[in-house]
Amino acid sequence: NQKSVYNFNAGPSALPREVLEKAQSELVDFKESGMSIMEMSHRSATYEQVHNQAIERLRSLFAIPENYEVLFLQGGASLQFAMVPMNFLAEGKKASYIMSGAWSDKALKEAKTIGEVYEAASTKDVNYNRVPSSEEITFEETDAYVHITSNNTIFGTQFHDFPSTGNVPLIADMSSDILSRPIDVSKFGMIYAGAQKNLGPSGVTVAIIRKDLLDHANSGIPAILKYSTHSSSNSLYNTPPSFGIYMLGEVLGWMQQQGGLEKIAKRNEEKANLIYDVIDNSNGFYTGHAEKGSRSLMNITFRVADEELEKQFLQEAKEAGFVGLNGHRSVGGCRASAYNAVPVEACQALQKFMLDFQEKCK
Ligand code: PMP
Repeated sequence: NQKSVYNFNAGPSALPREVLEKAQSELVDFKESGMSIMEMSHRSATYEQVHNQAIERLRSLFAIPENYEVLFLQGGASLQFAMVPMNFLAEGKKASYIMSGAWSDKALKEAKTIGEVYEAASTKDVNYNRVPSSEEITFEETDAYVHITSNNTIFGTQFHDFPSTGNVPLIADMSSDILSRPIDVSKFGMIYAGAQKNLGPSGVTVAIIRKDLLDHANSGIPAILKYSTHSSSNSLYNTPPSFGIYMLGEVLGWMQQQGGLEKIAKRNEEKANLIYDVIDNSNGFYTGHAEKGSRSLMNITFRVADEELEKQFLQEAKEAGFVGLNGHRSVGGCRASAYNAVPVEACQALQKFMLDFQEKCK
């Protein structure tokens, strides 16, 4: 007798219903061990199997080449803002940051405390309503890396193509669109993401790193902050967030059952287009924040014609069972986050709600 809602939260966000039910069914007694996965040693064979299965599933779904390490870390994507420059920004080198929103701002700010960084491009002057084009991005061949935020959770923009950076490693924060579409991992030196949008519960951070970068990483930093510490211990250097990793493995299993990333990407496009179509055909009643070519399929940001109506829209949406439609506190407006686990039916319901609201207010 559960309350039924349409969950459009930006993160933590919707998880597949089937995964939650499976986790519930094996919560108290995991695989006849007489205890839950949370209660057993992270050195036990039972846990290790869960841990390795999650890594294998990630490798297989995302087609991660052999020369990349897959790590499970903690501290969220925010810790990666610091760990990336600590490990990869060598003395005497510079790193460049492609600025496409609030999270790239944070990444740059953190990196500034570690070493020399600069902006490779920025769309701040247009309130981040689009991502920089490849032609706008400038960096130097000698840079330690180029950093990019693949999907801008707050502004609702997304890179649909990635710049070629040649021999300079491209490092991507994919927190809000990882595994939402197939990606050529070999174009990146490193990919990282907090799990709490597309992958599972908060508390786990995924890092995918090309092995040769690990060999040349900075060494004079604390062991816990070194990627090589975690890669040489299969992400079991210290106690990992074992329940989160178990959940992540189950979410990845669900994605495999859905038919993999091609299928998931197609469905994500259908879902987002249900909402974008309403915006585009509303004669200005709804306006999207993002330029069309930069629109995110994960976070759909929009405004309602006037502020009073917008308040009414959000209030009525809440009463109708839509959760998480308020825009981020820093930009306002409305945002629907339609991550992998948000069902098509939820987007259809939102489409209908938006159409009905517009019709009523005409
Ligand atoms: N990067 C992006 C693109 C995000 O959306 C977020 C969180 N919303 C973060 C980084 C920060 O992640 P965390 O809270 O896991 O540190």
